[in-house]
Amino acid sequence: MGIQLFMPKFDTEACLEQIRECLDKGWTGMGFKTVELEEKWKEYTGLPNAYYLNSSTAGLYMACDLFRMELGWDDNSEVITTALTFISTNHAIMQAGLKPVFADVDDTLCLDPESVREKITENTKAIMYVGMGGNAGHYYEIVKICKEHGLVLILDAAHMAGARVNGEIPGKEADVVVYSFQAVKNLPTADSGMICFKEKRFDDIARKFAWLGINKDTYARTSAGGNYKWKYDVEYVGHKYHGNSVIASIALVQLDHLDEDNAFRNRVAQMYTEGFAPYSDKIGLVTIPENCQTSRHLFQIIVENRDELLTYLNSKDIFPGVHYIDNTNYRMYDYAKGTCPKAEYYSEHILSLPLHLRLSDEDVQTVIDAVVEFVTR
Ligand SMILES: *Cc1c(COP(=O)(O)O)cnc(C)c1O
Repeated sequence: MGIQLFMPKFDTEACLEQIRECLDKGWTGMGFKTVELEEKWKEYTGLPNAYYLNSSTAGLYMACDLFRMELGWDDNSEVITTALTFISTNHAIMQAGLKPVFADVDDTLCLDPESVREKITENTKAIMYVGMGGNAGHYYEIVKICKEHGLVLILDAAHMAGARVNGEIPGKEADVVVYSFQAVKNLPTADSGMICFKEKRFDDIARKFAWLGINKDTYARTSAGGNYKWKYDVEYVGHKYHGNSVIASIALVQLDHLDEDNAFRNRVAQMYTEGFAPYSDKIGLVTIPENCQTSRHLFQIIVENRDELLTYLNSKDIFPGVHYIDNTNYRMYDYAKGTCPKAEYYSEHILSLPLHLRLSDEDVQTVIDAVVEFVTR
């Protein structure tokens, strides 16, 4: 089976117990466990609002749609974003009829505040920031830029469940924070995510928009003092984005393990870091600012001959990954090709090494030895 890039680990018995409650009660849909999870997530993060969705993609799409709709952004509106991300991030901007404007990254693999400043025009409405691999990078510089220029800040925190800066969960400064609980993220479920708006009015709209625009969910109706209000209004042409209680059951259990899981990931990362330290001229590492306690979704190295190394590792039954290919290589974003030289460079030189909770020290050492062997051939 070899050493895989990602492999989630679940507290199976505890998950089944939570799911059993749903089945026994006869409530598998929205409400019940989804509400419990939202409350627990608010408590865990300190964010004022949380709404559970069937994916983080849904959250990013909805964030762009709702801001556009409510803030009156027109077709010329631009959102500054990164080329080094999962495609959801930029599709969210594009599908809302907004224009992704690509700024470059720095050695944290997150957006470079200097590059962002250079991309601001009179049409800029928002900045989409990705905390790459759980590293906050220079997030607070971006917060400052948004304040200075009156821009909306969208934090794609897909990798950031449990990440902290100066000991605190970042995000209170952003207009919205979107987390992913997809199968291989730090808080794994099967598919789901959480959207946390700063303002309650957006959270209120999201709760309708994520269920076809219907203005009262079934749970609220059936718990309204036995008075079944079957009649509902439809306020928006919305989507089917909301989460359900079966998957929320898994999230509730895994949330209890999130901090210990991230600590394990950080220990693996520490082993890699120490193992590669003598080869710093051949194996580059991502800069993690001192105040960042990364969730370590990823451990990325920067090497020459990345593709050859990838093939070599595969031959040794080690299966790394690439996060990510510069998005301006894809046809819908190729108008920006060549505008982000650092993102382009990293896109060709980064490699994500196996990082998950089932790795033994021996596995990690095997990966270190193989990488070192390759670069010192
Ligand atoms: C995984 C990921 C997403 C999408 O998450 P889903 O929950 O699978 O929709 C968005 N942005 C980034 C940076 C991701 O890594």
